[in-house]
Amino acid sequence: MTRKVVKSEDEWRRELTPMEYQVLRQAGTERPGTGELLHEEREGIYRCRACGAELFRSTTKFDSHCGWPSFYAPSDSDAVELIEDRSLGMRRVEVLCAACGSHLGHVFPDAPQTPTGDRYCMNSVSLTFEEGDDAGAGAAGGAGEG
Ligand SMILES: [Zn+2]
Repeated sequence: MTRKVVKSEDEWRRELTPMEYQVLRQAGTERPGTGELLHEEREGIYRCRACGAELFRSTTKFDSHCGWPSFYAPSDSDAVELIEDRSLGMRRVEVLCAACGSHLGHVFPDAPQTPTGDRYCMNSVSLTFEEGDDAGAGAAGGAGEG
């Protein structure tokens, strides 16, 4: 898979805080219930903390009570990359940023209350939030001159 953003581990280490580096580049997990975006309820866009790529929209965020920000679908299926993770003696699906390959979290098929049934369980530290409504995006055109 070709990455749009390629940096050396040294570069990442310089640009990220130790906590961000541990999660994004070493597939760490922040402590549940501690993430700054856990209770973020404004409308907006969630981007990759490492490279700024758009990953999720607030419209797909839901409260899963799991202690991490949860979404039922990425903004675009190409925005994330899913790979099998067999660490910790479990079979899980790891979610990476498709643009830079950074670790975001895991996806679990255990959210029947959502339209997709999926729970993208993300680390707050892997994301940044940009407030804004979706106005302006899409639905342009349709200029109806008789
Ligand atoms: Zn990224």
